[in-house]
Amino acid sequence: MHYPELNLLIGGRVVAAGSRPGLEVIDPATQAVLGRVPVATPEDIDEALDAAHRSFPGWRDTPALERATILRRAAALMRERTPLLAWLITRELGKPFAESEKEVATAAEMFEWAAEEARRTYGRLIPGRVGGIRQMAIPEPVGPVAAFSGWNAPAITPSRKIAGALAAGCSIVIKPSEETPAIALEIGRALTDAGVPAGVLNMVFGDPGAISQQLIASPVIRMVTFTGSTSIGRALAMQAASGLKRATLELGGHAPVLVFDDAAPEAAADALLTAKLRNSGQICTSPTRMYVQQAVYERFVQRLAERARAWRVGNGLAAGVQMGPLANPRRLAAMETLVADALKHGAQLAAGGNRLDLPGWFWAPTVLRDVGADCLAANTEPFGPLALVQPFHDADEALALANRLPFGLASYVFTRDAATAQLASERIESGVVCINHCQASLPETPFGGFKDSGLGKEGGVEGLQEFMQTKYVSQM
Ligand code: NAD
Repeated sequence: MHYPELNLLIGGRVVAAGSRPGLEVIDPATQAVLGRVPVATPEDIDEALDAAHRSFPGWRDTPALERATILRRAAALMRERTPLLAWLITRELGKPFAESEKEVATAAEMFEWAAEEARRTYGRLIPGRVGGIRQMAIPEPVGPVAAFSGWNAPAITPSRKIAGALAAGCSIVIKPSEETPAIALEIGRALTDAGVPAGVLNMVFGDPGAISQQLIASPVIRMVTFTGSTSIGRALAMQAASGLKRATLELGGHAPVLVFDDAAPEAAADALLTAKLRNSGQICTSPTRMYVQQAVYERFVQRLAERARAWRVGNGLAAGVQMGPLANPRRLAAMETLVADALKHGAQLAAGGNRLDLPGWFWAPTVLRDVGADCLAANTEPFGPLALVQPFHDADEALALANRLPFGLASYVFTRDAATAQLASERIESGVVCINHCQASLPETPFGGFKDSGLGKEGGVEGLQEFMQTKYVSQM
């Protein structure tokens, strides 16, 4: 398997680096330089905007059935190319190869779901007040989209954005993460090979601030979609608002977990640890603040810590590895700061808490118990393999703890009691509530945060609607 040349995709052309400066892409498991991603110039961005503008009317007018066929073909190519795509994810991000294979399958499903749903973007007929009048509400694609995706789900996030935009009939300029460019470019290649017309999909890399500013300020762009941190999301939303452009924002979380004493604490700990350590905890829905009812607290902590200590950490390409490195040195530094600060504030270490003696950016699966609300980790999304456990007495206290932060993306509840489950699902302020399991998102389900965790939805029928606007037509 070879790491490919990195380039830009503009107006249907693969644009080689040429004399453009490049940014190093680094393997987080070995710190080896994999390649250099070209930095797009302002002229490149203008060209991408022009391509998205010129290609939009043709794609909008392409029958939904035909758009769907192309997207399904792209999904099939991605599935066929799974060994390469999964290998690229593991090299660029670090996660275990089997997890990368699963990500490729889910990314392909994003295109399949969007392809199916593209054929069902129905409008409505509204009864007229007088005879002979036909009143119609007709959904139309919103126009060219500017998209920005992070590094932590390097196939799923760009796929979700591209699939939604293209299925709805929009053209798109996407800037995936500069830290995971090859997997994004391979998805772009699958779409091009499947027959997406030139200019409908454009992919650029470079200086995120400069690119987003230029794209969002352009009158060509009608919608912004971003996945990343709350602070950047807020800044992009302000730029979008000044041009009266809609924005879909998938931002940070700090997911609470409520384990009630009628749940089986060992089974809950097993399910939660698996979810926690997926992608080294670098997932916005990662279960983090684990509040456990007093009667089962000790059993829960013991099981969680035992399993965390036994987790097999190493290079994601090695057989049997359950967790890879962190994706970048920023996450490693964050783990060091958050754990040291929590210990200073009285938390107890139940597992991990240290860097691993391996060449890459490895951090041990970490469980902190008796964590209060005043340490940094309890208030800042760790985005790493760090679980915080704290006891609670009753449902009111648990729900108050769950809702104490401004974030509201995902939450998890473990209980066998139907009334407790219903109460929690009604009172928790988050876009996703998972009861007795940890699968927070699927291509067919609406995903998105409340409060500081974002605006709008991705996935599901709702996700496709974000890329559409309704026109009212009244005909006599
Ligand atoms: P970051 O906020 O610097 O970057 C996050 C992503 O946004 C990166 O891909 C980056 O290229 C992009 N970005 C940064 N500035 C941008 C701009 N002005 N315009 C457009 N895109 C821009 O943070 P980071 O160090 O990469 O990650 C740290 C934090 O970000 C994590 O703690 C986590 O909370 C959050 N994050 C969340 C998600 C998510 O899925 N919700 C994804 C990635 C990062």
